[in-house]
Amino acid sequence: MTNIAVVNQIIPFSCVDGPGSRLVIFMQGCNYRCKSCHNPHTIDLCNNCGDCLPSCPTQALSLITSNNKPQVIWNEALCIQCDLCLSACPKQSSPKTQRYSVEQLLTQLRQQVRFLNGITISGGEASLQLPFIFELFSAIKADDELAHLTCMLDSNGSLSINGWKQLLPVLDGAMIDLKSWQQDTHRFITGRGNHRVINAIELLASKGKLHEVRLLHIPGISDFDTEITAVANHLKTLPKKVRIKLNAFQHHGVTGAALNWPTCSEAQIKQLATELTQHGVINIVLPSPYL
Ligand code: SF4
Ligand code: SF4
Repeated sequence: MTNIAVVNQIIPFSCVDGPGSRLVIFMQGCNYRCKSCHNPHTIDLCNNCGDCLPSCPTQALSLITSNNKPQVIWNEALCIQCDLCLSACPKQSSPKTQRYSVEQLLTQLRQQVRFLNGITISGGEASLQLPFIFELFSAIKADDELAHLTCMLDSNGSLSINGWKQLLPVLDGAMIDLKSWQQDTHRFITGRGNHRVINAIELLASKGKLHEVRLLHIPGISDFDTEITAVANHLKTLPKKVRIKLNAFQHHGVTGAALNWPTCSEAQIKQLATELTQHGVINIVLPSPYL
């Protein structure tokens, strides 16, 4: 059976989602409920309730019945990307998702292949659609024209060890978010603990497939600065080539209580970088807006 992906957005060319020039697919749906999420409408899957239809100023949304079920249809040609429908949705979803088969994405990749180094699957949480990703990456590696493209995953790290082991044969690298160090803090920010994240980082590092660990610094909320010794001791065990990417919390796209959290200044992110360096962490990458 051919798998179908529920996709929030495709960016044809990106240079910030892994090495080189990459096609990036943002999958819809996430198993975390991060208060700090800057893309909260990627979290849930649409239930076709139709509540967002009246908000659309261009009638780009309509409700049809398909197989005796309601289905929201998005007319991309009429859409002016005002995002009023996202604000109207009561469940952190989007009516603008689209479904793609592996063959459709292979066709898009072939059209761009001369300008790409690889493909990155992001989200939402990409690994929730693991069978599709496995099928897509396997097809890329079996295709003479596409086999040189690297296949990478941008993930919150919540996939089980068994899941990662299934993916490893067709995975070239992963970028993993570590949202905080202490379990309680991680649970407060994301709704879940971080045992699986730590396990994923260790497994991927041991297999040479960890490209980057990302730390989102939220002053007074995340605990990388107060747990600096433990965090640094963990990061120091990783292979030297692994990038430690620091991100500074900002309010863009954020909703709810996190809008009252302090943003992270350039001085604060540089202070964290300095402290990690003093504790022996190497290969630290600062967020580009602050360079
Ligand atoms: S983003 Fe597009 S579909 Fe959504 S309300 Fe605006 S025009 Fe309509
Ligand atoms: S995007 Fe939200 S409001 Fe619109 S149909 Fe889907 S679940 Fe309902």
